[in-house]
Amino acid sequence: MFRTRFAPSPTGYLHIGGVRTALFCWLFARRNQGKFILRIDDTDQERNVEEALAPILAGLRWLGIDWDEGPDVGGPHGPYYQSQRSALYQAAVDELLRRNMAYRDYATTDEIQAERDAAVGEKRDFVYSRRWMAETPDAQRRFEAEGRAAVVRLKMPRAGTLVLEDLIRGRVEFAWAREQDHVIQRADGSCLYHLASVVDDRAMEITHVIRAEEHLSNTPRQVFIAQSLGYELPQYAHLPFVAEPGSKVKLSKRKLDKYFKNRDFASLVEHGRSIARRIGLETSPEEFNPVVVDFYREVGFLPEAIVNYLALLGWSLDDKTEHFHRRELIEHFSLDRVNKAPASFDAVKLQSFQDRHMQELPPERKAAMVIPFLERAGLIPAPATAADRARVEALAVAAGDRIKVAGDVLEFADFFTPDDELSYDEKAFDKRIRHSAGAVELLGRFRATLAEVELFDAGTLERSLHAFVEAEGVPIGQIIHALRVAVTGKGVGLGMFDTLALLGKSRSLRRIDRALGRV
Ligand code: GLU
Repeated sequence: MFRTRFAPSPTGYLHIGGVRTALFCWLFARRNQGKFILRIDDTDQERNVEEALAPILAGLRWLGIDWDEGPDVGGPHGPYYQSQRSALYQAAVDELLRRNMAYRDYATTDEIQAERDAAVGEKRDFVYSRRWMAETPDAQRRFEAEGRAAVVRLKMPRAGTLVLEDLIRGRVEFAWAREQDHVIQRADGSCLYHLASVVDDRAMEITHVIRAEEHLSNTPRQVFIAQSLGYELPQYAHLPFVAEPGSKVKLSKRKLDKYFKNRDFASLVEHGRSIARRIGLETSPEEFNPVVVDFYREVGFLPEAIVNYLALLGWSLDDKTEHFHRRELIEHFSLDRVNKAPASFDAVKLQSFQDRHMQELPPERKAAMVIPFLERAGLIPAPATAADRARVEALAVAAGDRIKVAGDVLEFADFFTPDDELSYDEKAFDKRIRHSAGAVELLGRFRATLAEVELFDAGTLERSLHAFVEAEGVPIGQIIHALRVAVTGKGVGLGMFDTLALLGKSRSLRRIDRALGRV
């Protein structure tokens, strides 16, 4: 049975590149009826783990990337927090020492640095002299008598080549001579990620280590640890990273100023921030941007669309198919269709996936998605009543693809504003009502017609307006613009008849009365 793992550090946010790695691990596991394990790499954690982990778990859950073993769900190989597994790491360190594959090193940082500098001065590669290596209790005592403390280092090979078959990159070779005697345990007894990771991968029976490309260079030392402990190696698959817009450099949360020069990126951020402002969401630029998964959740993207987009960031089925649902991704995913080259983050592309998935959404699901935004903006009571739900659903249908992300529903806030609080675009009001010859009278007469309409739906309303202008002998333009400004306060908006139907009869009449009263 295949077993994969995603091993995030609790950083306080879920990086879009990180979650792409998680998605590929998950898809691979699901494709092969295997298991997906979530393991928390918190060996170096100083801040509060639960707090720093919460956005990561929430992001994964939101995207539907569920784990079979890990935090909250448990499993037979727990605990799934590395900070709670130190006894296992200590046992591995002891075993490596016993097998002479690691040694206690009593050098000070200055002494190592001096050797390094000397190598640089002589233009040769740095190779540690191992002068402070203690392989016997005697040597150990001698160094300790000098007041020295030890770290544990791997006794790495210094010649030969490691050849690995990476499932994405193919054959990769590493010269052992280019490796150092890497530290696996610090003087304070804490173990490094490399050791912990290898020990856990074995203990958790991981068959496939699928992770970001930046870990490729860590692989030789991890292979050395595994082989020295007599472990069978997992298969490795190193994914290319998600790159910045328009370049091949790794996408980072810390270079937003640079990304803002990309118009599409900037407008995605601006769009998100304007939604956040309207729902009173406190955001900081570092935490609220498209590099971080929370951003998409907060502004109302569809998880389905994000999953589709992320899957295509580095994987493809063929040259043409782009639109996938989760179950299709599971059905088709394979590592040999993963690209070796990094894929750039592309805001336009992402939006196009969102548009497609949004179009497929039935009105009731769209309504369910947008309701929390209306509630948070204080436009409808929370929890929404059945009548509100029906109204929102009708709005979602009328608005069609103008609701690109759920937060866009706030563009239609005027439908929810109490009639006597509606604000007017005064320029439009002057032009279409106050200074438009005959508009006030026409509006007054059409109000009387509207008051008689029984079935207040878009079709009926359209017919009665046509009958009205015909009887009046005026062009439709003379009334329709005035009517729009009267009931919405604005010169542009949704279709006129949809607008009236959405407002309903009594609110439409009230708004017309209020507009007439302003003249
Ligand atoms: N905590 C490491 C990371 O966040 C995990 C690396 C690995 O998958 O081995 O990149």
